[in-house]
Amino acid sequence: MTKEVVRCNICENETRNHIDILNGCICEKCEQNIVDLSYDDKKYEGYNILLKDLWKNFLISYEEGH
Ligand SMILES: [Zn+2]
Repeated sequence: MTKEVVRCNICENETRNHIDILNGCICEKCEQNIVDLSYDDKKYEGYNILLKDLWKNFLISYEEGH
C-alpha cells in the first residue's frame, strides 16, 4: 500500500506519515507536539484553535450529509 502525500492541517508541510483526524490530517511531528503540550503552554492555545476549525468543518460536512 502506497501512502499518499498529504498536507498537514497544522504546519502545512507535506508528509507521508500522518494521522487522520476528523476531516483533516496532521503529521506525526504535530501529533507529537500536541501530545507533549501542557495546558499552560502558549502553543496549546494555537493548536486548540486549529483543531476547533477541523472540528467545525467536520460538523458542517456531517450535517450536510444528513
Ligand atoms: Zn504538521
